Amino acid sequence: MITLKEALKLSQSELENLKKELNEKAKKEQKIGAYIEQFLAKDLSDGGKGIPIAIKDNISVKGWELTCASKILQGYVAPYDASAIVNLKNNGFSPYGRTNMDEFAMGSSSATSFYGKTLNPTNFNRVPGGSSGGSAAAVAGGLALASLGSDTGGSVRQPAAFCGCVGFKPSYGRISRYGLASYSSSLDQIGVLTQNVEDAAILYDAIAGYDPMDSTSANIEFIKTASKLNAEKKLRITVIENYINNASEEVKNTLLKSIDMLKANGHEIIYRQMPDSKFDIAAYYIIATAEASANLSRYDGVRYGRRSEDFHNLKDMYINSRSEGFGEEVKRRILLGTFVLSSGYYDAYYIKAQKTRALIKAKYEEILKDCDLIFMPVTPTTAFEFNAKKSPIEEYLEDIYTISLNLAGLGGISIPVGKNKEGLNISAQLICKAYDEQTLLDGALSLEKIIKNNK
Ligand code: GLN
Repeated sequence: MITLKEALKLSQSELENLKKELNEKAKKEQKIGAYIEQFLAKDLSDGGKGIPIAIKDNISVKGWELTCASKILQGYVAPYDASAIVNLKNNGFSPYGRTNMDEFAMGSSSATSFYGKTLNPTNFNRVPGGSSGGSAAAVAGGLALASLGSDTGGSVRQPAAFCGCVGFKPSYGRISRYGLASYSSSLDQIGVLTQNVEDAAILYDAIAGYDPMDSTSANIEFIKTASKLNAEKKLRITVIENYINNASEEVKNTLLKSIDMLKANGHEIIYRQMPDSKFDIAAYYIIATAEASANLSRYDGVRYGRRSEDFHNLKDMYINSRSEGFGEEVKRRILLGTFVLSSGYYDAYYIKAQKTRALIKAKYEEILKDCDLIFMPVTPTTAFEFNAKKSPIEEYLEDIYTISLNLAGLGGISIPVGKNKEGLNISAQLICKAYDEQTLLDGALSLEKIIKNNK
């Protein structure tokens, strides 16, 4: 598949041909299930003049159905463009197909979608990761040039790592959340999934920047990154030693090799420890579910999407619409979130989680005071098999290396650095100081080049 950088040079007719080609390819590759709806006919005829970008089905595109892969939103049509989509269109790109995801972005396997699961293009028995599994599978499987996803606890970085593409989540507030269906508002951030680091910078530049429509948008200067990328900068990089050591043997060994290569190429490497990640998991699943329980209360059978046909009074209608419309994992999280916010438990769970969040943020800040970037795994293992996780908690543990970043509000990127014996992808995660995306992308480009040169 051609890159975004190459696509920027195509003529209008070449672009039309590319879209047709993508369309044909996607028809053949339907088994992967990357898209809920792909290559809308109108994109081939009218406005869609730009470079096609696949969009996760929780980002509003005016006139398109927006389902968050949930039954409850079936038939809901977005009345406006998300700000990220407005920016995308203004910069020569066109939304092009709705990618599959875990229902309401809750999950790490893309197996909870109402529309069926997405398969990992490298190995159909393996999950593509989640929740932006469709966005990652589309890029890694050659079914999209690039895609948008959302990352609340790792949903851009983890599926990118499982499928073998680049997944970049900028600092909280860099990309407007206006028009992104809320899961956990204090953690949610739109991110990009691309074939390489340069494309990640190009797509990020197209959609980032302050937006008065989002009160949490970062009102600070945004300087475009792609034209300033510099892979030659020598950086001071902190390796989180205990996280590397706790990853599976194959992930650990591959990452240790990458660290050696970074050193050999003139980057300075220092080693630090982070507190046990079980605290991150606990804090995240309290905060995320608490916010989700409030955010998802708007799906009541009245204002959005689907309403139950079976009811006798208003209360019945609410209950039946929600019972029929939400899947099992979403219900579990609404229940959990409602519980941790309930009187008597609020202090014991929610307040404690917020205090833990503050400590995690402070720890990152302390480490980043002394270096340019942090290096750690994205995931403890390579892509797991469908049904490998015996309980929800087991799947939650997949997020141990990604969620703390959202709790701290920092930017992170997942870069493919190797494969295991079966050909499954292994990625490294780089993390930057808040809003220092330029250094993050510079470091990521350097790592990408080093890996390529050592192949
Ligand atoms: N896997 C995490 C969760 O289930 C992260 C999801 C996300 O980033 N949207 O909440």
